[in-house]
Amino acid sequence: MKTRKLKEKVEVITLGCSKNLVDSENIVTQLKGNDINAFHENEDNNPDVVIVNTCGFIDLAKEESVNTILANVERKKAGEIEKLYVTGCLSQRYKEDLELEIPEVDAYFGTMELPAILARFNADYQHELIGERKISTLPHYAYLKISEGCNRTCSFCAIPLMRGKHISRPIDDLIREAKELAKRGVKELMLIAQELTYYGLDLYKSRELPQLLKRLSEVEGIEWIRLHYAYPTKFPLEIFEVMKELPKVCNYLDIPLQHANDEVLDRMKRQITQGQMRELINTAKEMVPEIAIRTTFMVGFPGETEAEFQDLCDFVSDMRFERVGVFQYSHEEDTSAHLLEDNISIEEKANRANRLMEVQREISFEHNQKKIGQQFKVLVDRKEGGYFIGRTEYDSPEVDNEVLIDAAKHYVRIGDFVQVIVTDSEDYDLYADVLD
Ligand code: SF4
Repeated sequence: MKTRKLKEKVEVITLGCSKNLVDSENIVTQLKGNDINAFHENEDNNPDVVIVNTCGFIDLAKEESVNTILANVERKKAGEIEKLYVTGCLSQRYKEDLELEIPEVDAYFGTMELPAILARFNADYQHELIGERKISTLPHYAYLKISEGCNRTCSFCAIPLMRGKHISRPIDDLIREAKELAKRGVKELMLIAQELTYYGLDLYKSRELPQLLKRLSEVEGIEWIRLHYAYPTKFPLEIFEVMKELPKVCNYLDIPLQHANDEVLDRMKRQITQGQMRELINTAKEMVPEIAIRTTFMVGFPGETEAEFQDLCDFVSDMRFERVGVFQYSHEEDTSAHLLEDNISIEEKANRANRLMEVQREISFEHNQKKIGQQFKVLVDRKEGGYFIGRTEYDSPEVDNEVLIDAAKHYVRIGDFVQVIVTDSEDYDLYADVLD
């Protein structure tokens, strides 16, 4: 066993998506597994070393990552921290530039360099710690990353440049991790990937997400399994059968569609048409009538005409999705869309994003109005102001609707499931009473 300074305190800071959060959790877990005092985002602990896990997806995210690095360079200059390391997608994509522009950072690492990060602490990578990930989310829910990378070629997307080709994690490793998480009180698992539905095609030469869901459903203690980042093309319909059959699999699907106009979908290289997307969504609703569909759209793609944008708005009005997120196109170098002219102004991109979200706000309000008087199982996440705040199986943490329970009228325990009846609603929130 190599000698090391045990007093070293290491803070890991995460930018970006839930997949990056899982990577940060693995860094903390491996450092702790080597008796190093590591923790996630708690500067009150006066760390000696900071590791910034960056995001490099779009301009806004890159800016936030650079600002976080610079803020920690200031901490280092002020003598508050001794060492500063940077990892994650921005570092993977722009390592040489960053080394030149921000030389105060002690070392930059790519997205697949955990052993190299550990070596800086004379620590060893321990495979056996895989199932023992220290989660940074609330103790009753956790993200489970089932694969890394992506084989798709969406023209606007830089993720394959930063995360590489699709690599599925073995089912047995995922089950072991799920059992370990359940033992520690996790009741809800968010399954995440760059492209969820591709799971297994590399490792098992077949789409194995339905099998994985069946195995995860047998894990004692896990009550909700939620699907994020599905891809619409060649979507395995068996997933809807499993969703119908297995009560633990939430009637919820996050499936980014990105656009709905066929010309734009073609320029985005999404390998699907509006007609095919309509058919998929309608099939989902037929097979799982109470399913909540979350999707994401991108506005301001190069050449997007007012008519093409209007086509998207009409599609959203017509399909009445339960949950919608909207991104503004970011002109990312080394993507195939970067060869196109980024001719939609920043103002017009923001204007289109607001107009599309306004279409969705009304739909969300109407969906919520219909829930008044209905009963739901709610997982209680936290207490805030005069309310206990939770979610139904149709709501994922941090992105979807919440259920507000008046704390003056009801007492519930955080992390518990409670049965409620909805008494009122707003655009994105429900108010509810607890049923005895
Ligand atoms: S499927 Fe997602 S991660 Fe993969 S290229 Fe398309 S947008 Fe990017």
